[in-house]
Parts: sequence; C-alpha cells; structure tokens
Amino acid sequence: MKKIKVTNPIVEMDGDEMARIIWNLIKKYLIFPYLDMKIIYFDLCLKNRDFTEDKITIEAAKAIKKYNVGIKCATITPDQERMKEFHLKKMWKSPNGTIRNIIDGTIFREPILVKNIPIPIKNWKNPICIARHANADQYNAIDFIIKKKGRLYLYFIPDNNEKKDFQKYEIHHFTEPGIAIGMYNTDESIYRFARSCFNYSIYKKWPLFLSTKNTILKTYDGRYKDIFHDLYQKEFLPIFEKLKITYEHRLIDDMVAYAIKSNGGFVWACKNYDGDVQSDAIAQGFGSIGMMTSILITPDGKTLESEAAHGTITKHYRLHQKGKITSTNPIASIFAWTRGLKHRAFLDKNYPLKNFSEKLEKSCLEVIESGKMTKDLFKLIYGSNDIKNSKNKYLDTESFFHELKLNFEKKTKNREIDN
Ligand code: NAP
Ligand code: MG
Repeated sequence: MKKIKVTNPIVEMDGDEMARIIWNLIKKYLIFPYLDMKIIYFDLCLKNRDFTEDKITIEAAKAIKKYNVGIKCATITPDQERMKEFHLKKMWKSPNGTIRNIIDGTIFREPILVKNIPIPIKNWKNPICIARHANADQYNAIDFIIKKKGRLYLYFIPDNNEKKDFQKYEIHHFTEPGIAIGMYNTDESIYRFARSCFNYSIYKKWPLFLSTKNTILKTYDGRYKDIFHDLYQKEFLPIFEKLKITYEHRLIDDMVAYAIKSNGGFVWACKNYDGDVQSDAIAQGFGSIGMMTSILITPDGKTLESEAAHGTITKHYRLHQKGKITSTNPIASIFAWTRGLKHRAFLDKNYPLKNFSEKLEKSCLEVIESGKMTKDLFKLIYGSNDIKNSKNKYLDTESFFHELKLNFEKKTKNREIDN
C-alpha cells in the first residue's frame, strides 16, 4: 500500500515505563508503515524532563498550540519515591497539568466498547463521555475549622471601594464548634467550559447534558445553567438542530439515574467535583481502564491533545525489566493515536487519513471480538478465578500486537483502506 500523505505535522510526546514500550510497538507496527507524516517529537520521559528542568513539557505544549494536534504517551508524575528512584533535581509537576494550563482546554474521557467484553451495566450499549470542568470550586476553596462561638460572614470588597458594590452575607451564627468553606468560579471559565462541551458534542454528533444542583445552589449552580443556556441560544442551537442533537440541563441526581437507565451515547458536562466522582464511576461501570481514552480540547475546538486515561503501568514494567512475560492492553494508547490523527484529518479535510484512523480502530476491536485479547479483558469475560482453568488463553503483549498487525495488514491488502 502506498503511504497516506499527512500534509500538516502532529506533535508526539513520548512517555515512561510500560506505556513507552507499547507506544513504540504502536508506531513500529501500526502507524509508521502506513503514513507519510512529519512528527514534531518531544521526549517527555521523566529523565528528560529532569535533564531539561521540565522545559521540554512547556515546549511540547506550545507546539501543540501551534500545530493543533498532540498525541501523548503516559508519563510518570513524580512523588517522593520517584525523586529517589530517578535522583531528580526537583519534584516536577504533572506534565498533564502543565499542558492543560498552557492549552487551556477541557478533558473528555470516553470508554472504548467491544461487543464480547461484558459491561457491568447491561443497557450501556454506547459510550458515555464525561466532560469535567477542571477549574476552581472545591479544588481552589478555603476550608477551615471553627473552634469558638461566633458569626461567620462572607464579604465582597470591590477594588474601586465603592460602597454600593460592597456585599456582606451572614453565613451562620456558631453556638458550637464546626467547619466552614469559601469557594468561587468565574464566568469566563464557565463560558470556555460550555463552549468546549458544545463543540465536542457537535464533533461527536452526540447530545449534551449539563448536570448541576440548581434547586439548592440557586445562584451558584444557576450561573452554570444560565451560561450554558445563553451560549446555546446565541450560537449553538441552529447547529444542534441541523445535526438533530439536543442540549439539556438536568439536576445531578436526576442525571445519575438517567445515565444508569440510558443506553449511553451522550456527552455529560460535570462541575469539577461531580466530574471527579462521575468519571471514576463511568470508567468502572464500563470495565477496564485499559479501554478508556482521554482528550483535551480547546473551547474553539481547534486544538486537541489525546492520550490513554491510564498511567505508565509500573507493575507490568517491573515484570518486563525482569525479562518476564507481560500482558498489557495497548488499545487506549492506539486510540490516542487514531483520535489525534482523526483530528488532523478533520482540520486538513484529509479523508484518506480519517478512513485510515477509523479502519485501524475497527480492525483492533475485531481482533478482541475474535477472542484474542490481553489479560485485563480476559478477566472481564472469564473472571479472575477461571483464568488458570480456562481452555482459552489470553495473549502476552507482543503476541497481541502480532495479531493486531496481522488483521490490519489483511484489511489493507483487501483494499478495505482507500488511499
Ligand atoms: P496505571 O499505570 O494506570 O496502572 C494501574 C493498574 O491498572 C495496573 O497495575 C494494571 O493492573 C491496570 N492497567 C492500567 N493500564 C493498563 C493496560 N493498558 N493494560 C492492562 N492493565 C492496565 O496507574 P498507576 O500504577 O497508579 O500509575 C503508574 C504511573 O503512571 C505513576 O507514576 C503515575 O504518576 C502515572 N500516571 C500517569 C498518567 C498520565 O500520564 N496520564 C495517568 C495516571 C497515572 P494490574 O497490575 O492488575 O494488571
Ligand atoms: Mg478522581
């Protein structure tokens, strides 16, 4: 097959440990043989981040902003133990946090579904995508202990000191010890979040729901509801109507019940804390972290960075270092590539590239559906206890790649991939 020409570059960020091992196998077997593409490469392995004093992460984020497509391998976020293990100069920040701050986007997490992998919630036929407003609220709050009797107030003092703009509220008169919290958000951040969510819904052609508790927090959560409504009426309604998709606000408790009863296939915009809780509930509800993708997208929908939702899979890497056999699922990392490439195709109107990405995804899922899979998925079908007794066997990392390559090659030979 002639290689598909990709006119504009993509930004690739390499990572650490077992994720890095599978990353290289993906490039070698599934990407490089098929695409004629310029890659702007950044090695974000912890050793290199330490060597460059983390400048490499900032450069990578800037490059993503410039070229609009970033594809990232999982990386180690250092803690005390990693400081010792790698003799680090400093406990460098999470690369994902650094990149998110520079690109200023919203994270969308979505499971990859395969027919023969059972989902604990039977009626979930389509993925549910969680969009989390990763700004402020509880995560930038001041909370403290009240030890004495007294009055708790909340003040707003305007910078211009104009008396008419002062605000003062009595929160509670304490007659016994207790606790208190003060938190905030900004209109601009909520507008950017809303815009990201509307654009992502359009991109997926899925309905959008926003959940809040505006019956209790009438003003605070009401602001989220109003901003989403305002943007929808002013800009997005005609596009949603054209695509026959809908936007709706729901109370969070109503939304949780709806999600469980639904067949999936929607984007769920969550406030910061709700998103933290719901993304883990959804991930577990769909089965395996090895099948969860994560996409960071800017409010204008132009810049996208994609990665697997899992980490560097340290436990498997320790086995690999000892020369032992591993069974690591590469699907989420493969989808990090295909989702990034699909965005490149979308921006450049490159239909052969779009076709390639979709066929590669389909081909990988076909392999799993034919019964060939890694241990994490195998356990979901046969249960942990049956793994030794079962006649069927799961595949090791390399053998699974061999099957993925074989199936995809068969598809390209049958000209199922157009050039
Ligand atoms: P992890 O790498 O996600 O792995 C946790 C466990 O989940 C693994 O031990 C494995 O379970 C299972 N697992 C995850 N991905 C899998 C896959 N592709 N195939 C099969 N099983 C998979 O989380 P962690 O061990 O807590 O974190 C390791 C490192 O990753 C940390 O240094 C952390 O900082 C980093 N991290 C990076 C990112 C990122 O870059 N986005 C995200 C999270 C964590 P079994 O051992 O039971 O097989
Ligand atoms: Mg969490």
